[in-house]
Amino acid sequence: MRLSIGMGLKNGYYSRTPCRTRFFQMTTTPQDLNDRGFKATLPRLRIIRLFETSRDRHMTAEEVYRRLKEDGLDIGLATIYRVLTQFEQAGLLLRHHFESDKAVYEINHGHHHDHIVCLHCGKVEEFFDAEIEKRQNEIAQGKNFEVVDHALCLYGYCATGVCAEQRSADAEAEESEKAKGARF
Ligand SMILES: [Zn+2]
Ligand SMILES: [Zn+2]
Repeated sequence: MRLSIGMGLKNGYYSRTPCRTRFFQMTTTPQDLNDRGFKATLPRLRIIRLFETSRDRHMTAEEVYRRLKEDGLDIGLATIYRVLTQFEQAGLLLRHHFESDKAVYEINHGHHHDHIVCLHCGKVEEFFDAEIEKRQNEIAQGKNFEVVDHALCLYGYCATGVCAEQRSADAEAEESEKAKGARF
């Protein structure tokens, strides 16, 4: 479990208790960054705030770049990579490697959850299931392991919404291409 990552933070808004439903609305202040040993630069503040306020909790460096640019802030990708790595090392962000080679970051609330990832559009959903957690621990115990961490990720495709529509349109286009090819 990743619960330990959020421990020992001074400002205390990272809960150690596993959280299922509560949503933490946080606002990192320049002082918070100073307390964590960071100089409160504009890129650092804006990046952490983006993670705190974005509806998509999981973002790649490129997505962070694009969002900040949409907000009129042109921070170079190299800076974004560097800040994300610093935040990850300080325990403010968690880094995941889902199916792609691109790291996905999310804010570290200190509560464990698992993920479902769409292989087409990259959408990430979170879930927590006490039964699955329990079974995993039992299985590990049965193999004489003490679990300290785990990452469970389900891969699939969005079954509804824009992504699903786009995929079925693509499939139709491919079918009609094939049918055309067969005729000649
Ligand atoms: Zn999708
Ligand atoms: Zn997550």
